[in-house]
Amino acid sequence: MGIVVQKYGGTSVGSLEKIRNVARKVAQRYKNGDRIAVVLSAMAGETDRLITLANELSANPDSREMDVLISTGEQVSVSLLAMALRDLGVPARSLLAHQISIRTDNTHTKARIIDVGVETIKKVFDAGEVAVVAGFQGITLENDITTLGRGGSDTSAVALAAVLGADVCEIYTDVDGVYTCDPNICDKARRLDKISYDEMLEMASLGAKVLQTRSVEFAKKYNVPILVKSTFSDNGGTLTIKEDEDMEKEVVSGITYDRNEAKITLLGVQDRPGVAATIFTGLAEKNINVDMIIQNVSPDGKFADLSFTVTKTDFNKAMEIVREKAPQLGAREVTGDTSIAKISIVGVGMRSHAGVASRMFEALSCVGINIMMISTSEIKVSCVIDEKFVELGVRQLHETFELDKPGSNFGKD
Ligand code: ADP
Ligand code: ASP
Ligand code: MG
Repeated sequence: MGIVVQKYGGTSVGSLEKIRNVARKVAQRYKNGDRIAVVLSAMAGETDRLITLANELSANPDSREMDVLISTGEQVSVSLLAMALRDLGVPARSLLAHQISIRTDNTHTKARIIDVGVETIKKVFDAGEVAVVAGFQGITLENDITTLGRGGSDTSAVALAAVLGADVCEIYTDVDGVYTCDPNICDKARRLDKISYDEMLEMASLGAKVLQTRSVEFAKKYNVPILVKSTFSDNGGTLTIKEDEDMEKEVVSGITYDRNEAKITLLGVQDRPGVAATIFTGLAEKNINVDMIIQNVSPDGKFADLSFTVTKTDFNKAMEIVREKAPQLGAREVTGDTSIAKISIVGVGMRSHAGVASRMFEALSCVGINIMMISTSEIKVSCVIDEKFVELGVRQLHETFELDKPGSNFGKD
């Protein structure tokens, strides 16, 4: 008799029929004698609908109120699943974040989990019931509702698996595992049986939304294996675990893209110490993460153009801050571009191979894709491109690095 933590995403609970389907799957495990905690997302499209409502009402919705609003989607799905389970004769209880003490910091709309209580869930287990937990939401020390960022139910599930000591955290979604790139935009994408925490972390942070980045950070920290499976078929599955001997050691193991990127440029700022600090401190104070940064200094060394990227979600707030700071930095103009995206190649094998980046640039130029910004780390290369070329770029890179076939894709050592 084990402890099982399962998470079902929005498309898996997107209609009453799908909720009944999830209930049948959970009931089967329950009848094996397992103690089960099921974490749910809101029904497909619901979180988007709530965000749109807020944005239609207000140009800059208050983030505390935003969390009160967007956390409601999960309250609906957990109550419905608990009802469906009861209809199948399985005792079940829905639980919201405040009932099980999912404590977070105060960063509304992208809060970080500090601690998760186990007492309530253990009592539910002891009563022979299935715990149906609302994902995505948390509660601050002051008892305010928070949310964990888009896709945050993955993180709720992994955190719960860690504190309950589950052997594995099962994430059920609309694809049957983690692929070399998004299978919904590239039909040559290949499913991986296993992927290391580090590679998955990089893929997730660069846009592979199959797992939220924070969930992989948690899994790595507490050594919780994550099994990604399809809700709709028993085949496939990908295990995210510590790197091991028989894992594929590709130079490039995945291609990712992120459409949630926007670029802000300050033209003609004075080239003197403190300029970057003024802008980026202002953004950090409002919890806005900056991704890529590029600075070009004019030939006479007096002025610079500074470009950087933030998420599209933070774009309006970031523009407001930058426009406010621009006069004191002497900026001639502030411009914004929300029609960009980031495309990346990822692979731990890149550490020991030269020439990977140049091959990426060449592949993109072959199909006429212009690169606006570049950033690299030991195990990834990212390029900012025009959003309309994302699919073309992903397919081109997938082919260039021959990711449809297992084995080294950049010559042998
Ligand atoms: P859920 O609602 O179940 O949490 P998500 O939409 O958040 O599902 O994540 C699943 C989606 O992630 C897939 O439908 C797929 O389009 C996308 N995806 C992006 N990159 C990958 C990848 N490398 N492997 C698998 N799926 C990916
Ligand atoms: N419902 C939330 C979202 O759409 C959380 C999740 O799905 O994981 O982002
Ligand atoms: Mg998700």
